[in-house]
Amino acid sequence: MTELYRAHIIDVPADPPGSGAGLRSLEDGAIAVEDGVIRACDDYAALMQRYPQAQLHDWHGSILLPGLIDIHVHFPQLPIIGSMGMPLLTWLSERTLPAEAALNSEQNARPAARRFLRSLAANGTTTALVFGSHIAAAQRTFFEEAAASGLRICSGLSLGDRELPPPLLHNADQCYRSSRALIDRWHHFNGMRYAVTPRFSVSCSEAILEVCGSLMRETEGVLFQTHINENHDEVALVKRQFPWAEDYFATYERYGLTGPGCVYAHNLHPTESECRRMAAAAVSIAHCPSSNAFLGSGSFAMQRHLDYQIPFAVASDVGGGTGFSLFKEGLAAYEMQRQRDDGVALDPAALLHLITGAAAAILGIDDQVGSLDPGKQADFVIVNPPADGTLAAVIEAASTPAQKLGALFTLAREECTALTCVGGREVYRRAT
Ligand SMILES: [Zn+2]
Repeated sequence: MTELYRAHIIDVPADPPGSGAGLRSLEDGAIAVEDGVIRACDDYAALMQRYPQAQLHDWHGSILLPGLIDIHVHFPQLPIIGSMGMPLLTWLSERTLPAEAALNSEQNARPAARRFLRSLAANGTTTALVFGSHIAAAQRTFFEEAAASGLRICSGLSLGDRELPPPLLHNADQCYRSSRALIDRWHHFNGMRYAVTPRFSVSCSEAILEVCGSLMRETEGVLFQTHINENHDEVALVKRQFPWAEDYFATYERYGLTGPGCVYAHNLHPTESECRRMAAAAVSIAHCPSSNAFLGSGSFAMQRHLDYQIPFAVASDVGGGTGFSLFKEGLAAYEMQRQRDDGVALDPAALLHLITGAAAAILGIDDQVGSLDPGKQADFVIVNPPADGTLAAVIEAASTPAQKLGALFTLAREECTALTCVGGREVYRRAT
């Protein structure tokens, strides 16, 4: 059966080489969905003619965007969003790691997983690369709930054997065995993928990084995620811990933790040599501006990443980040670039690309998601701001699609998500 979703359609279509990314806007548009796949994206009137028997979901007056993609967000950290007044390493030891240790029971882990996944869907996020728990049972629970949620989830057990509280510490052998068991059970299950996840070099001995390299070599299609160059004290600590390494990136490079599908969060303080080697190694960066500002970690040299052709996308980094909204994160990225002498001039089309198509390409799934092109999975979000709110008034006054989208990035938050679908299946609907 064909289903038609009628709305103001906005996306950044997969651009032919050289065309430059631009907005596609269909003011009274629709997508036709069959078997979870987008068959057509066109004017509503044209699609009604083509599919007269289709079941109509009439969201006329609302905005329909491709499902949003968050490439860096921490499952255990929802409860500590908004922990103010600390730089990274203090924030970790005083608030974050104790909260992560609380997932040591099924009683705590299952509701935490459900709340986290619901928060993603409620913010229009349909695909996420999720930093997991250090506790294997909690991570197993997370995968169970992720499979039930219908969201496209990539995730993995966080690994570390030092600089962590006891419940989160595991030696290299335990890390290998727990990761292996989770990979065997969940990698490629229901469209999910596993991501090898050393927390950061600070908390990983060389034995752990070696385990990560083995897991990656052994497992086809596995992703990799970690942190790098977030904070000056962190970078200095890594230098002391790895006296042989010429820089932070070298601590990962030595163990083969590079290549497409390797996502490094932050990269605020890289050297020229690191940028050169990151580009050559085809790794990608998760740029998390609200987290960087909140923790006072620094500012992202976006122009430099463009110059070196290091791929990046915008991500929430909950709970250093200030929430799950990738619209808010886009606004934070825009504002951060406005503050820099070499800031990149980001327009609404570029911001949308950074939370959809660019993120899909980094995860290697841009042939399936990231825009509303026919043939792609029907992953989308319908944004419908409360009628009496500020955003509704601004959208009503907007005269171009870019103005509407700019207003969305600036003002749309969780309460504006009316419906989120993954593969044509509803994963969130706002209570009426
Ligand atoms: Zn992070």
